[in-house]
Amino acid sequence: MKNISIALHGGAGTILRSSLTPELERSYKLELQKALDTGYQLLEEGATSVDAVEASVTVLENCSLFNAGKGSVFTSGGTHEMDASIMDGSSLNAGAVSSISGVKNPIQLSRLVMEQSEHVFLTGKGAEDFAKKMNCTFEAKDYFFDEFRYQQWLSVKDTDQFQLDHTAIRDEKFGTVGAVALDQFGNVAAATSTGGMTNKRYGRVGDSPIIGAGNYANNKTCAVSCTGSGEYFIRAVTAYDVSCLIEHKGMKLGEACKEVVHKRLKELGGDGGLIAVDTSGSICLDFNTEGMYRGQKNSQGLDEVAIFS
Ligand code: ASP
Repeated sequence: MKNISIALHGGAGTILRSSLTPELERSYKLELQKALDTGYQLLEEGATSVDAVEASVTVLENCSLFNAGKGSVFTSGGTHEMDASIMDGSSLNAGAVSSISGVKNPIQLSRLVMEQSEHVFLTGKGAEDFAKKMNCTFEAKDYFFDEFRYQQWLSVKDTDQFQLDHTAIRDEKFGTVGAVALDQFGNVAAATSTGGMTNKRYGRVGDSPIIGAGNYANNKTCAVSCTGSGEYFIRAVTAYDVSCLIEHKGMKLGEACKEVVHKRLKELGGDGGLIAVDTSGSICLDFNTEGMYRGQKNSQGLDEVAIFS
């Protein structure tokens, strides 16, 4: 069988061993492994990389440990506004949604935008109307509620602060999710999904649904999914920059990720990380924070999940 690879993340940030109980660490690892195995099994069965990344991200969206789908952070109005995107490296087709509420799996809606609409990016009520038309599953507000995230929001609620789910100032829980994969047909894909930042307002949107910033895939180079302080990732056009360094500077995947994560983002002040896979099946998981929830699996026998650096 040809090379297949998949990698995923569940957010990067100030993740310290001391901040996680052994039980919580075990729960994170179990969920990461479940998401990894779900995507990998599909790849083994001959599914496309788009199928695999969508399936892996769906598992993570359905788990309240992560800031995506169920368990998304609270906005300043006490609601949940989710963002997601998906990209197919074989066609450069992409789909994205932002500021949506109630949709159980934003990543599935992104894929529907990519495949069933004439558009790339739908937002807010319009995106929800499209989701209804596509018969997507909606959930009541209770489904998205998570006590930890609620307390997290209460602590900043009546302030002007909005808070990245990655900072250790008030929070030790992280969680935007993403997956990248190479299928046996040589095609790469990337998917990213998030609830954004706690107490966000004014319709704030981060990098996750922005093609080229938080998510990108191109068969000429690689597939990338990012996590971190979205404003910086947007300004640095991070995911596309990794691809450009490979395409135009001839860098290897690891070299390009290192340049972007440890130099370009750092110089701007951005913290976070990314996962990437290229068309040879090489995987890179890189971050400039203390940790990143992550996992990788390939047809050469690699199979691991990790949290700390
Ligand atoms: N990048 C996401 C955003 O800024 C947050 C995250 O990665 O947790 O919305």
